[in-house]
Amino acid sequence: MKISIIGTGYVGLVTGACLADKGHHVTCVDLNAQRVDALNRAEPPIYEEGLPELLTKNVGKTLSATTDLKAAVLATDVTFIAVGTPFNGREIDLTYVLRAAEQIGEALKQKDSYHLVVVKSTVVPGTTDTRVLAALEAGSGKRAGADFGVGMNPEFLSEGEAVSDFMVPDRIVLGGIDARSIAVLGEVYAPFEAHVPRLATNPRTAEMIKYASNALQAELISFTNELANVGAAIGGIDTVEVMRGVHLSQYFTGRNAEGLPPITSFLKAGCGFGGSCFPKDVKALIVHGENLGAHVPMLKGVIEINEAQPKKTVALLNKHWPSLEGRGVAVLGLAFKPGTNDVRESPAFPVMNELLAAGAKVSAFDPIAMHEAREAFPDARVRYADSMEAALDGAEAVIVVTPWADFKGLPALVGDRVLVDPRRAYDKASVARYEGIGL
Ligand code: NAD
Repeated sequence: MKISIIGTGYVGLVTGACLADKGHHVTCVDLNAQRVDALNRAEPPIYEEGLPELLTKNVGKTLSATTDLKAAVLATDVTFIAVGTPFNGREIDLTYVLRAAEQIGEALKQKDSYHLVVVKSTVVPGTTDTRVLAALEAGSGKRAGADFGVGMNPEFLSEGEAVSDFMVPDRIVLGGIDARSIAVLGEVYAPFEAHVPRLATNPRTAEMIKYASNALQAELISFTNELANVGAAIGGIDTVEVMRGVHLSQYFTGRNAEGLPPITSFLKAGCGFGGSCFPKDVKALIVHGENLGAHVPMLKGVIEINEAQPKKTVALLNKHWPSLEGRGVAVLGLAFKPGTNDVRESPAFPVMNELLAAGAKVSAFDPIAMHEAREAFPDARVRYADSMEAALDGAEAVIVVTPWADFKGLPALVGDRVLVDPRRAYDKASVARYEGIGL
């Protein structure tokens, strides 16, 4: 394929050199003429292991550079935008991305054949399918989808290992406004090894995957630093050993049935955690740390977010009914997770509290923990039912707080009721009226 890449920094240059090595014909574009000249002499303008060899091998054959953006776009089928997106102290600075998109649009005005424009820069979710798409349409006078495609392909390389990260990525995310955009972007990555997982999605989700990946890693670093501060306040604790003890857990080192580390089961949105340990242990550490003078905003944030999730779950019903007064709502799954009769701190109780406070008529069922639930939540306004079917009787909505395997057949019984599935245990197309957290 013929590919142009706008921006020849760490990401653009590595992308260009690697795609050229994979057999595509790549034109790198940069405003910086010195950078362009160096590249055309096969001299890497940045230090990155493996890059000099790639340039020596491919410059003059499948790889070249220019300052002429328009000519590069007109001579290629796909254009990547890989310019910088710094934080300007207030917000992400999209000046370079939008300027590049306008320039690409102006070039597309003169192009008759289909062209795909792909954002590779890291941009806040919603940028590609609104602002970039609008800049391309304004510049070209053409319509996205009909005349050209728009994609979003986040980059996960890390400097220092950029070439090997790009050549053998752990995943390829193919975001596109339509099937054709995704298909053409897929062709760019066709020469990559077949075992590399590919995820096709819309541009916003692709943008969010990049931010989610970076934010998670950043949070884990700050989390460890917060623990180190608590450890230092307590005294006699070596946080390196603490974290070593944490890392040894099978949750990080093992593999579940899907071949993933079991810790991934916690990286799912839902109506919050419960159980006999997480809430009380996090709260105890907060109080202990604060009593000793440690600052624990992250641990406090963990509790704050968790306590808000049951409200968010019930609020999904307000999309269908502004008031829940008199509405029948069945709550399924009362144990704090499947496979136990432990109901301590189960999110089912704050969910039921929210429903009752809103005036809903609540029925409830759990295959194992009925006795424990009745004792823990002895509110006469709740009708504890003998079966899933009995709980659904008279209900206009059903919330599955704890997705026991026994509830597998639920979609067939839902009919025109609203199914609220905070744990995302069901296919969203399995019922007519579906709501889930994170949709
Ligand atoms: P960079 O600053 O190194 O390079 C950007 C280049 O774009 C510069 O050489 C600049 O001259 C050029 N440029 C800007 N506007 C242009 C235009 N209109 N026409 C032609 N050239 C233009 O940036 P980078 O570190 O490669 O990052 C690029 C994007 O990739 C950013 O959004 C960044 O967040 C993301 N990203 C970076 C990394 C990384 O490790 N550096 C990893 C993943 C994603």
